[in-house]
Amino acid sequence: MPLRGLGALGSHGGFRKQEGQRQRGQGKPTWGLPRTKKRLLWMPLLSAFGCLALYLYGFRILRYLEGAIPMGICPIATTPLLTDKFTGVLRHWARSEVPTCTSWGAPIIWDSTFDPHVAKQEVRRRNLTIGLTVFAVGRYLEKYLERFLKSAEQHFMVGQRVVFYVFTDRPEAVPYMTLGQGRLLRVEPVQRESRWQDVSMARMRVLYEALGGKLGQEADYVFCLDVDQRFTGNFGPEVLADLVAQLHSWHYHWPRWLLPYERDKRSAAALSWGEGDFYYHAALFGGSVAALRKLTAHCALGQQLDRERGIEAVWHDESHLNKFFWLYKPTKLLSPEFCWDPKIGWRTDIHHPRLIWEPKEYALVRN
Ligand code: UDP
Ligand code: MN
Repeated sequence: MPLRGLGALGSHGGFRKQEGQRQRGQGKPTWGLPRTKKRLLWMPLLSAFGCLALYLYGFRILRYLEGAIPMGICPIATTPLLTDKFTGVLRHWARSEVPTCTSWGAPIIWDSTFDPHVAKQEVRRRNLTIGLTVFAVGRYLEKYLERFLKSAEQHFMVGQRVVFYVFTDRPEAVPYMTLGQGRLLRVEPVQRESRWQDVSMARMRVLYEALGGKLGQEADYVFCLDVDQRFTGNFGPEVLADLVAQLHSWHYHWPRWLLPYERDKRSAAALSWGEGDFYYHAALFGGSVAALRKLTAHCALGQQLDRERGIEAVWHDESHLNKFFWLYKPTKLLSPEFCWDPKIGWRTDIHHPRLIWEPKEYALVRN
């Protein structure tokens, strides 16, 4: 009875119509098929259509929804105290919707929270040189290096003293670059490992040695980057600090228990379920020479211990980097605007991406 009432409510009288059909002859063929069989035919068709839509647009929709997961904000008591060695007082109020500090008091740098001119002047006053390291081994060189370097010359620490260090197995293939005053490029030969994972992990050991050598003498602060990305906006001294970590653009809204840390307890990179602050991206980290010596030594040693045990962390050097940053907290975090993947699409909290991922073409560049 209540059902009949509901049906009567419908302006199109759909329910009544169906009921009428049922009364006219249950299971009677429509389009030559009984109703139950017809339903059996439609169900898989609809499911297939649903699966196709989810496949085509599902991840994008999930990404949009993910952007709505709150990241938390800084406690009111902490925010007025937020200052930075290079930028001075941070304008945390300009980005009240995102966290601008960590629980251990390190600033998280978002677009509009800093004054780029203050940081620029501070670096000039202290007469600092900033190093930028990048590895281009195997086919990564042709695919990415030129665009990376050109964009770096255009946007990275503009007007500052910079030394670019390119580590490659083919120094002769490094493109010629005209650089601004006070900026120079050094090419350092490295051995080519046979697996791409080994090339990626070997960076920690090579960097450790370079930081103990000429790079460490020439530069005061160093940034270590993946080559498969390109600068798209001003990337200045506001990013400098003793130990700088990059929030991973794919994981910055995720709850902690979902983060892809290494969980195998046998690995030196292992974090247990209660551990971990954020998920950091190994495509960009930086800091003072001393801090980076410690970081690269820690990661290289962890990788070596794993190799001796016949294991490899799930995300290679990145897993070890995340372990290091759990044990030794970074003194500055960069928002995903400083290393953004445009494939994620539009996000309200991403105002001004300054470095973006290039499309991954693994089939072309790996092994
Ligand atoms: N790399 C390289 N040659 C290789 C593998 C890696 O030069 O065969 C360097 C390159 O700088 C690259 C970085 O190691 O950007 C990390 O590798 P990849 O970018 O493929 O890792 P993902 O960003 O996919 O984790
Ligand atoms: Mn990369």
